[in-house]
Amino acid sequence: MANIINEFVKNFSNSDKTKQKYKATPYKESDSKKADKYIKHCKLCNKCWERDRRNPKRSLHIYENFPTYGKEKEVCPPCKN
Ligand SMILES: [Zn+2]
Repeated sequence: MANIINEFVKNFSNSDKTKQKYKATPYKESDSKKADKYIKHCKLCNKCWERDRRNPKRSLHIYENFPTYGKEKEVCPPCKN
């Protein structure tokens, strides 16, 4: 019985993920394009980073495990120094 339930849950969450992927694509694409303007990919430390939009000279955000695909390549300030 437990196996059947597990199998059901597996299938259900799988199909749910697929649905979400399809539904989310148009929104996510435009959203990540917006983010691409600001988020850069540093090849030296292999992280994505962006300057704080309100205080670009002082603040810096580093994103670990952020998808680097399509991001503009620019060495981040900590690597430059
Ligand atoms: Zn770096």
